[in-house]
Amino acid sequence: MLRWAEVYLDRLKRNYENLKRFTGHKRIIAVVKANAYGHGSVKVASFLERKTDVDAFAVATVFEGIELREGGVEKPIIVMSNPLFENARNFLEYRLTPVIFDFESLGIALETGIPFHIKLDTGMGRLGFLPGDFQRLTEIFKSPLFKGIMSHFPVSDEDKCFTKEQFSFFLRFIKEVLKVNRNVAVHIDNSAAVPYHFDSLLTHSRIGLALYGSKPSSNFPVKLEQVMEIKSRLIQVKTLPEGWGISYGRTYVTSSREKVGVVAFGYADGLMRSLSGNWSVKINGRKCSVRGRICMDMTIVSLEGVKASPGDEVIITDRELTFDKMAEKAGTISYEIMCDVSPRVKRIFIE
Ligand SMILES: *Cc1c(COP(=O)(O)O)cnc(C)c1O
Repeated sequence: MLRWAEVYLDRLKRNYENLKRFTGHKRIIAVVKANAYGHGSVKVASFLERKTDVDAFAVATVFEGIELREGGVEKPIIVMSNPLFENARNFLEYRLTPVIFDFESLGIALETGIPFHIKLDTGMGRLGFLPGDFQRLTEIFKSPLFKGIMSHFPVSDEDKCFTKEQFSFFLRFIKEVLKVNRNVAVHIDNSAAVPYHFDSLLTHSRIGLALYGSKPSSNFPVKLEQVMEIKSRLIQVKTLPEGWGISYGRTYVTSSREKVGVVAFGYADGLMRSLSGNWSVKINGRKCSVRGRICMDMTIVSLEGVKASPGDEVIITDRELTFDKMAEKAGTISYEIMCDVSPRVKRIFIE
C-alpha cells in the first residue's frame, strides 16, 4: 500500500471522554458530517455508539444520514443543513431528524409527522429563523413533533464577549420555550464553546473538530490527541546533480549534489499544494523538508543525511506533525485539511 490513513479509535474515545467531563457531562451530539471530517463516518459513528454514551449524531445532508443508517447506526441522526422540501420521504424512511430553519419546511414536518429540531439564527447569519420570526414560532412549542432547539456560534474560538452576549440572547428565547415544553433538547455549543461552561439550560453539546483531536482554539483547555495519522512510502531515492531543478516550475534548484526521495503522496491525496517548500515529513525518525512544488500524486523531499530506500514509510502527519501545524503553514484551518484527505487514501481503523 502506498497511501493510507491510520484512524486510532482509542484516541477518539479518550478525546470523547475528556470533552464530556469538561462539558460537565452534558449529553454529546457527535458531529460526523463530511465523512466524519475525513475519518470515515460509519466506522466512527458505530465505534462511538458501541464504546461511549454518545447521545446522537449530526450530519449535514440526508445522504450522509442514510449512509449511517445503512451502516447499522441506531442512535438519532440530526440532519443540519438539508431543507425538508428536498426529500421529506427519506427523513421518514430512515428516521432522520431534520433541523428546520424555514416555515415551508416546518409546514411539511407538521403535515407529514416528522419529529424535528428548530434552528435560530442568533448571530451566525447563516441558517435559522431570525428574531422577527420568533413570535410566529411560539405556535409550535406544544407540538409533540418539536424535539429540540438549537443555534450556532460564529466566533466562539476568538470573541468571548460576542459569544456570551449571543448566548444570553439565545437563552432568553429558550426560557420562553421551556415555559411551555420542558422536554426539548437545547444545544448551541460547538467544540470551541466547550471551555465557556455554558450550562444552565443546555442539554447537549454538538462537538466535531475536538473529537478528532484538533484544537478548536489556541488555549483550548482539554487534552486532545490527533486521531488520524497519514502515511505513504518512498518510491524512488536518488542523488541529484548540482544545479538540478526539482518539480514543476523548477522553484527549487540544487546548490550542490542533493539526495532526495519521491513520496507517493500529492495534492490529490490531500497534501495541499500551498505547502510546497513549506512542510516536512518524517522518514525513519528524521524530518525531511519538501523540495519544490507538491504534485498531484507525488512530492519530493530532501534525504540529505537520512538513511532511506524505496519502500520506506513516510509520515505525512501524526500527533507531532499535526493538522493544526499544517493548517497554520497552509493559511487555512485544520477542518479543511481533514476534509480534503482523498478517498484514494485508504482508511485503516485501529482499536
Ligand atoms: C459543523 C458544525 C458543528 C461542529 O463544529 P465543530 O467546530 O467541529 O465542533 C456544530 N454545529 C453546526 C451547526 C455545524 O455545522
